[in-house]
Amino acid sequence: MDKETIIKLEDNKLAQTYAKRPIVLVGGKGSIVWDIDGKEYIDCMAGYGVCILGHSHPRIVEVIGSQAKQLITCHGSFYNDARAEFLKNLSEVLPGELNRVFLSNSGSESVECAIKLARRYTGRKEIIAMMRAFHGKTLGSLSATWDKKYRAPFEPLVPGFKHVPFGNISKLRSAISNNTAAVLIEPIQGEGGVFLPPNDFLQQVRELCDEKGALLILDEVQTGIARTGRMFAFEHWGVVPDILCLAKAIANGLPMGVTAARDDIMLSFRRGEHSTTFGGNAMVCKVASTTLDIIKSERLYNKAKELGDYFMGRLKEIKQSSKIVRDVRGKGLMLAMELRFPCYLIILKALEYGVILLDAGPNILRFLPPLVIKRDQIDKVCDILSELIKEEERARGLR
Ligand SMILES: *Cc1c(COP(=O)(O)O)cnc(C)c1O
Repeated sequence: MDKETIIKLEDNKLAQTYAKRPIVLVGGKGSIVWDIDGKEYIDCMAGYGVCILGHSHPRIVEVIGSQAKQLITCHGSFYNDARAEFLKNLSEVLPGELNRVFLSNSGSESVECAIKLARRYTGRKEIIAMMRAFHGKTLGSLSATWDKKYRAPFEPLVPGFKHVPFGNISKLRSAISNNTAAVLIEPIQGEGGVFLPPNDFLQQVRELCDEKGALLILDEVQTGIARTGRMFAFEHWGVVPDILCLAKAIANGLPMGVTAARDDIMLSFRRGEHSTTFGGNAMVCKVASTTLDIIKSERLYNKAKELGDYFMGRLKEIKQSSKIVRDVRGKGLMLAMELRFPCYLIILKALEYGVILLDAGPNILRFLPPLVIKRDQIDKVCDILSELIKEEERARGLR
């Protein structure tokens, strides 16, 4: 099929819910993807951070082949070797308290499960989430998501959700009550613009939850699995949640959601009270298990820190010599550059120069590359970005 036919089919046949970039991707290797014309791009998006080991990682390709020959699907009502192997691998990286999991297929589903679980375990109705939070777009997870533009067209949402400012412990203290089932937080807010919490915030939330008998749910769908320089972002602040949500990178791009919880919490679900047909299938478990193996044996969290520090250094240089960069921030290879103007044109122009960037709100560029990105690729991305920012400044008469 040629490029025009492909674009026309997608435009005419798909729901028009994504802001499309005008290229057709057909292949990838490591941190590079290429389009149908053979043009290469450095991928600083990695499918929203999912492809943590890079595209077509040889070991992932190999286990997909071998597992496909063995068994692809296996419902949760049967035992399976690939699933058991994944559980063993996962429990080696999770804190000991989080010793039971429910397996699903996406970030939203991992949050849905956490919300139901918190209500079921505590018998309370209310969930407190944060302003600027993003937890997904299914009705339950959307009720925890903050942005009005996602919520308003679909109201009424699930009742019982409140939002308080991220990082403000006294506002949370005023909002929490004896009816609060859980406080739901992204340790670093992702879609909302890559915001880090004040240093003592998560610890204070942990203490407040314990005091009030509410559960702490951490949504690490974006921050989890080595991206921020630790296996899980909560390790930076020494806080262990009661329930943990994972997805995005856990199966290196195959769809998987994980909700991990303490034994007593997870066992409050009775038989049949939660389920999903594809959850924990053999193929995705094999890939997730291999992904964890590779991350552990290559200590990729250390690489995320090292390369993230280097990337951040380069972004700071750009900021210093620019009038339109308001802030650079992030942790590990979860980074952002906030501009004083919308960044959409920069994202489109970067494509022409062979760089795929992501946004996080209208003025914020976000970088979620595979953890195998090379220094010279980071250099190239930053050189191009620096040129595009200068160009933008000239166009605005600032240079
Ligand atoms: C992406 C994301 C979700 C939603 O995940 P989906 O797989 O798109 O359903 C939930 N929470 C956070 C923090 C995310 O970044």
